[in-house]
Amino acid sequence: MQYPKDIITEILMSEEEINTRSKEIAQEITKDYENKNLVLVATLKGSVPFFSSVMRYVNLDCEIQFIRASSYVGNTTLTTGKVKVTSPTEFDVKDKDVLIIEDIVDSGLTAKSLFDYFNERGSRTVNICSLLDKPSRRIVDVKPKYVGKVIEDKFVIGFGLDYNEKYRNLPFVGVINKKYI
Ligand code: 5GP
Repeated sequence: MQYPKDIITEILMSEEEINTRSKEIAQEITKDYENKNLVLVATLKGSVPFFSSVMRYVNLDCEIQFIRASSYVGNTTLTTGKVKVTSPTEFDVKDKDVLIIEDIVDSGLTAKSLFDYFNERGSRTVNICSLLDKPSRRIVDVKPKYVGKVIEDKFVIGFGLDYNEKYRNLPFVGVINKKYI
């Protein structure tokens, strides 16, 4: 089944732009994490496409791991303010350099919880790499080290980002048509 033709009102990041930015960011990571103990951590499920785009261009000996952080519930576009962090598989981050790969940093609550989670577990450094950043929505002070694109306060879908668990498989990022919310 195809998605409705008018599901997107505006494309904010095309497939080509995502590819280009992923390569550029991976090159920066490769430079910045040389001789470090890098663990790339994907946040499920939203960051999976961006994670795989970036990690294959990171030219370093590194670990990959997965974590789940949820701040949104059901089919709403509003944050609940509470973030639950769970690890599907146990992994050790003691004295390691954790780079969390996110789909989007919005209020910053998820990022802050992930920072706390890894700091409590003894990581040497913790940083965030996010495909998108909505700084105008921030309620806690977090700044991703790497950002694919800064966007305005609009609800976006595609390239991992969902609405009610749909649209994650769109190959670009676009603004959802309000009539479907
Ligand atoms: P934060 O904790 O920074 O408020 O929110 C982070 C999470 O909220 C993201 O990982 C994502 O799941 C969700 N989120 C925030 N803004 C958007 C958006 O514009 N579109 C979608 N689909 N999810 C969003």
